[in-house]
Amino acid sequence: MSSVPDISLNGGTTIPQLGFGVYQVKPEQTVEAVSTALEVGYRHIDTAEMYQNEAEVGEAVESFGRSKVFVTSKLNNGFHKPDDARRAFDETLAKLRSDFVDLFLIHWPLPTLYDGDYVSTWNTLAEFLSDGRAKAIGVSNFQVAHLERLAAETGVVPAVNQIEVHPYLTNEHVRAYGADNDIVTEAWSPIAQGQVLDDPAIGKIASAVGKTPAQVVLRWHIQRGDVIFPKSTTPSRIKENFEIFDFELDDDAVDALSALDKGEQGRTGPNPDTFDYLPD
Ligand code: NDP
Repeated sequence: MSSVPDISLNGGTTIPQLGFGVYQVKPEQTVEAVSTALEVGYRHIDTAEMYQNEAEVGEAVESFGRSKVFVTSKLNNGFHKPDDARRAFDETLAKLRSDFVDLFLIHWPLPTLYDGDYVSTWNTLAEFLSDGRAKAIGVSNFQVAHLERLAAETGVVPAVNQIEVHPYLTNEHVRAYGADNDIVTEAWSPIAQGQVLDDPAIGKIASAVGKTPAQVVLRWHIQRGDVIFPKSTTPSRIKENFEIFDFELDDDAVDALSALDKGEQGRTGPNPDTFDYLPD
């Protein structure tokens, strides 16, 4: 049924290219939303300690069958010190009701906090990889300078870098570093939380191919090779976002979407160089 391609990660595992994101899905909505997604055919869930719904993701995934689903979670900003990271990772596994996670990420680099030390945090994630409790490890919101520092100071290459990418912020520079260094790019907010869907250029392409604007934008990501996990709590949209493997965009359409890039002006989330949010 599912025609979602698998993408190879540098450590030898694979990840389904299309998944389901649960940022801003309230805990009380999460079991239902994730279960709907799994019934539709998604086999990859992207959560984080910060989203406060790991336990509900764990519940839905356990009922469906843990071994059938690729699960990602992320280390929250308050836990970058190695001992805190170890404790937080134990809690993540407990909440997910699993003795492993398929992919574990540093959620934000926080270069202005912790004396700029995200390297010891990364070395701590490497412990989870070595002991087999994380099948793959990676980073999120890392800029090129941050990735270069990991490369210079550690021997472990992130499997993925999860960054903001959509037609208004194509983030080519960071994507190119990933492509050159065996780091898969995961595109967060793939439809810019809906902000790109009314764009006339996208509407025109959608009419031409007989698909919705959301499907066109998600297909654009797939053809560029990035991993995506659109979020929705609306069952019809969860299904719509999965139905992107029965059509193709031609090169002109792909280029037209890429040409909508607004650079930094197109960013909807925080800038990773300055983001310094710490939870209470
Ligand atoms: P998305 O770009 O996935 O957009 C989600 C929004 O678009 C919701 O409001 C949803 O509404 C709406 N929507 C979804 N599908 C459709 C559709 N087919 N037509 C119209 N509207 C639609 O935003 P997210 O920020 O949630 O990003 C996706 C995932 O990326 C997150 O859930 C999370 O897993 C990850 N992420 C990671 C970050 C990081 O720092 N690493 C930061 C942000 C996101 P509704 O639910 O009402 O249907």
